[in-house]
Amino acid sequence: MLRLNGKEVSAVRRAQLKSKLKDFCNRTNHTPGLAVVLVGDDPASHVYVGGKIRACAEAGINSFEHRLPVDTTSAQLKCLIEKLNDDIAVDGILVQLPLPKGLDSNKVLGWIDPDKDVDGLTPSSMGHLWLDKPRATPCTPSGVMAILNYYNIAVEGLKAVVVGRSNIVGKPMAYLLTQANATVTICHSKTKDLPSYTRDADIVVVAAGKPQMLGKEDFKRGSIVIDVGIHHQPVKDGKNKLFGDVRFEELEGWVKAATPVPGGVGPMTISMLLENTLHLAELNHI
Ligand code: NAD
Repeated sequence: MLRLNGKEVSAVRRAQLKSKLKDFCNRTNHTPGLAVVLVGDDPASHVYVGGKIRACAEAGINSFEHRLPVDTTSAQLKCLIEKLNDDIAVDGILVQLPLPKGLDSNKVLGWIDPDKDVDGLTPSSMGHLWLDKPRATPCTPSGVMAILNYYNIAVEGLKAVVVGRSNIVGKPMAYLLTQANATVTICHSKTKDLPSYTRDADIVVVAAGKPQMLGKEDFKRGSIVIDVGIHHQPVKDGKNKLFGDVRFEELEGWVKAATPVPGGVGPMTISMLLENTLHLAELNHI
């Protein structure tokens, strides 16, 4: 089984990004900037945002961090997003999801200027994606495509199944696979007999958000398995360990290739965020 090493792909792409960034800064005298907005005290979100801010610093991208209290009102959040929309130092705006109860994420994402929508999740960006003209493609699904590309895995003509239909992962993932000429089925929580779909697929992307849900018996021999799931779960000694949606250790000797957790899709999401920030800066500074 080929272990699809997202850490390696991410390191290669970040090195390439550094030289592109240097060139961009020299040409335009502008350093790309990413604003990250986090509302509330979800511990995992704080860890993810910390990782994104550190990655910006390592890459040479300016970052502007806004951590807001859990009782932030819709009006306060809108006011901040409008300020960021007008700030010329900011090329990309990311609102960390999930938002606390009481804040409607679709409404909030809709306030982001589509030209600064670094995660490609505003209604306008989603529409452009479906029309084949994305400004920024959602980071996690484009990270999956970057892994496949790095390992020369062509999906053209393959039967693909995406497990999950969220706006952030499942739907755009299915779209990108379709665009790459796979024949795609989307499965979700109401799908009857999920294994009958996954066992028939040449490639399965699992983004159900259910720890260790699928194992060897759910996949066809020789297929490709991409695990998007991330779960922090307590193990012995009160420590936490990361798990995916797939029981990776069962796949050895059965599937052709698979992504581990950690070290698979996770590192790619941040890399694509950095790449999208530069891409938006380029579009905004033509
Ligand atoms: P979500 O909860 O918004 O969506 C989960 C989807 O899975 C839903 O569409 C639901 O219908 C489907 N689903 C749930 N249970 C199912 C079942 N038993 N059978 C079939 N389908 C089922 O989650 P999300 O935001 O799309 O994230 C999915 C997972 O990916 C989570 O574990 C999340 O932490 C992880 N994630 C990872 C990254 C990364 O960088 N690797 C980025 C985003 C999300």
